[in-house]
Amino acid sequence: MLLNAINPTPLAMQLKIVKGMRDLYGEEVRVFSYLEEKAREIFSLYGFSEIRTPLLEHTELFAKGVGEETDIVGKEMYLLEDRNGKSLALRPEGTASVVRGLVTNNLLKQSRQLRFFYFGPMFRYERPQKGRYRQFYQIGVECFGVEGPEADLEMFLMLRQYFAAIQLQGVAFQINSIGCQEAACRPAFKTKLIHFLEQQKEELCADCQRRLSNNPLRVLDCKQPGCIALTAQAPQSHQHLCGRCKDHFATLQNLLDQEGVQYELNPKLVRGLDYYSKTVFEVYSANLGAQSAAGGGGRFDGLLELYGSAAAPAVGFALGLDRLALLSEPLAPVNGGAFVIGFESQAVVSLVAKVRQAGILCEYDPFFSSMKSQFKQAGKSGARWALVLGEEEIQTGQVALKDLDQGTQTSVTPEIALEKLQEN
Ligand code: AMP
Repeated sequence: MLLNAINPTPLAMQLKIVKGMRDLYGEEVRVFSYLEEKAREIFSLYGFSEIRTPLLEHTELFAKGVGEETDIVGKEMYLLEDRNGKSLALRPEGTASVVRGLVTNNLLKQSRQLRFFYFGPMFRYERPQKGRYRQFYQIGVECFGVEGPEADLEMFLMLRQYFAAIQLQGVAFQINSIGCQEAACRPAFKTKLIHFLEQQKEELCADCQRRLSNNPLRVLDCKQPGCIALTAQAPQSHQHLCGRCKDHFATLQNLLDQEGVQYELNPKLVRGLDYYSKTVFEVYSANLGAQSAAGGGGRFDGLLELYGSAAAPAVGFALGLDRLALLSEPLAPVNGGAFVIGFESQAVVSLVAKVRQAGILCEYDPFFSSMKSQFKQAGKSGARWALVLGEEEIQTGQVALKDLDQGTQTSVTPEIALEKLQEN
């Protein structure tokens, strides 16, 4: 369809951003990049490398993996039809896509274990509020192939190291185990839980009455005060584990204690998505207000099999970058570099180009305002040096090099000025 057919007067249209979306720029983007850079640095120490998957996937990938009964799939996915009528979804989370990536590229045949991290936007049609957007950003990690709790432990160690690197204070881990698909494990627990919940069905909130039949574990983490009170005495999954899941959880807790990782056992933590098994965890911060979860993760040993692929144990997590940015301390201003001051456009742009070519941050005033204003801008820019091209300098082929920290000034050739900048 032609643009004109959609809006006959395109120039008069109101440019509005889509609800729940936001533009990122300035300081916020700097913080996002910093958080990503640090994640890259720390996660590589643990043998993880980056994977980039498409934003669009076939809808059934999420319907099957995340679960049709979950809020994410049932209510929050952005769906679209392509020109052939195929149903596609903007990814609401990263794990299903990474798993699809392993299968599509046959990666599990090539290595006994695989470790990937990803960054990027996710899309969920949620009610927007501070810290909750319809396009938000995640940093995620997935480790495939290792069944033992050592891999779970690594997630916590890596997160702890990452939080220390970005100087994030006041974050706490909560953990739980929701068992596996073995009849004696989660299915048996589910039956017990349903039995317990059925007895108070009338008092549960409307959402939980629905969850009771299609996703009963989610009733445990309902945030409605009435449901919280009603489930206080509910059976706890970590006390109804099969032998293997019990050992796994006990060993993990021992390892966490051994490594001095602090955590709290939260028997009501279930994570809500169908694909989780055994260990589940969340990262909380008291400084986040209503949206207190900064991240979450767990094991998903059954997900590959669910997709009809060869089984492979897996564990991972996702952090909300928007929320980490809210928690982060402001970054130090960018300092250093040079500011070229002058009125002769040709001379100024030529010197600016030389300085930048030498790999040094350099700014100038493209409006060639008054000398006073240019000096003011130089001071504000955080530049260490001002390179002044006044009338005299233009005539003598020199440049006045002013150290903006010390206030000293010398007249030198442009070559010497460059050498001086490179030394500092
Ligand atoms: P989840 O796997 O749904 O628990 O998401 C992992 C993390 O992503 C959460 O702990 C949040 O930090 C972040 N997150 C999830 N949904 C949103 C959203 N709508 N807006 C901002 N961040 C979100």
